[in-house]
Amino acid sequence: MPAQSEGAGPAARAVRRWAVRRWPLWELPHRLVFSVLVVELTAVGAAVAAAVRMPLPDAHQLLETALLAGLGILHTETALGVERLRRRVTVGNHANLSSVWTFAGALVLPPALAAAVAVVVHLHVWARTGRPRVPLYRSAYSAATIVLACLAAAVVVDVVGVGPHALTAAGVPGIVLALLAYTTVNTGLVAGAVAMSAPQPDLVRVLGRWDDNLLEFATLSLGALTAVALIVNPWLVLLALPPLVVLHRAVLVRHLEEAASIDGKTGLLNAAAWHTQAERLLQRSTPADGPRGVLVLDLDHFKAVNDTHGHLAGDHVLAAVARALRAELRERDLVGRFGGEEFVVLLAGPPTAAATELTAVAERIRLRVADLRVEIPTPDGPLSLSGFTVSIGGAVAPAEGVDLRTLLQVADTALYAAKRAGRNVVRMGTHPAAEHPVGSRHGGEPAPGRDWTVDGE
Ligand code: GH3
Ligand code: MG
Ligand code: MG
Repeated sequence: MPAQSEGAGPAARAVRRWAVRRWPLWELPHRLVFSVLVVELTAVGAAVAAAVRMPLPDAHQLLETALLAGLGILHTETALGVERLRRRVTVGNHANLSSVWTFAGALVLPPALAAAVAVVVHLHVWARTGRPRVPLYRSAYSAATIVLACLAAAVVVDVVGVGPHALTAAGVPGIVLALLAYTTVNTGLVAGAVAMSAPQPDLVRVLGRWDDNLLEFATLSLGALTAVALIVNPWLVLLALPPLVVLHRAVLVRHLEEAASIDGKTGLLNAAAWHTQAERLLQRSTPADGPRGVLVLDLDHFKAVNDTHGHLAGDHVLAAVARALRAELRERDLVGRFGGEEFVVLLAGPPTAAATELTAVAERIRLRVADLRVEIPTPDGPLSLSGFTVSIGGAVAPAEGVDLRTLLQVADTALYAAKRAGRNVVRMGTHPAAEHPVGSRHGGEPAPGRDWTVDGE
């Protein structure tokens, strides 16, 4: 075929090819790209197979399909501001409230039409609230997981033989099993992708938090009620919209509360939130289960890290220290970033042997920071920094104070004593005995300024 006969074709095709090559999808690790494509192709294949087997839909089914897809779109448009804000402040798994419409579709519509509702609602959500921050491949992947979840739910209703159409108690097992199938397929596929893409996947990150899963369950329950309403009288479905919009707002408030209490650089509590939660913990605790005390930590000569490698490298180190702290402490201990390169911990637990416990924990943290190796990505390849040290001051409760203010003052004074003693030291309390380091001193004489080392420079 002569080149001219393709008209604008070659140019357009070249642009298209160029665009496809630049898809953010190709930046993912190969095995993740492979898994994403397998899930997406399976969803397309299963939806097409369901469509081929489906008899021609009647007018009623088409009305139900249009109603669910239309309400899904209306829901997104009504909650546009709420959803955009929610996406800005939320990190990690993102509970999807559109499941109300997609799950209702899975329960009452032929599978191919349910899949169509899922695709329309999902891509509309992406176009209006996800784009351009969320790449299309991510939204296409979640649409594919929802399509597969809808098909799984439809299969369950088919196998059980009764679902929402029963309109009696006989329909309940079908609905509950379909709900479980829907959420298992959806959560499983999302968790798989998160586990493959997260550098250090943990259970909460992969499976989502307990309250996010509860929200998913609440959304699907509302979806089941919507399905029943659709069967009784399609226009009743409109009544599902107001509670859903209110639920959406309530979820945003929770996310905003969380965002306001978290320090963005380290993921720890910020100073204000730490104070509030520490006060609450102190008020709630009894003498028998009261906290063991407070630790205040300050990285040694941290300014030199910034001066040599820049603030971005310094931020990486702060985040690594925060992870080390979390790893050495238990879930119920309160850890916060006090500001700059200072951290604070309220240790939970009975005050029996509090001084010994507090010192042991502080020593563990000190040694862990000393062992820390932080990989920092740079244009010239990763840079490995190590040799950090931290000085720690502690106040034992209730021996050295019962209220937060006193405990912090005592711990802060002990921290200054640790700095004066040469850094990389743990000090407890303000009493004369505390002037001698409780932990072993490894820092030697005060370092001249830079006491951390760089590998690979
Ligand atoms: P010392 O051992 O006495 O604590 O010395 P230092 O250098 O750690 O203490 P100083 O208080 O003189 O400096 C603290 C430094 O922490 C100054 C600032 O550059 C740095 N810093 C504070 N907040 C941040 C931050 O959010 N990111 C980065 N990268 N650095 C920060
Ligand atoms: Mg400081
Ligand atoms: Mg410091």
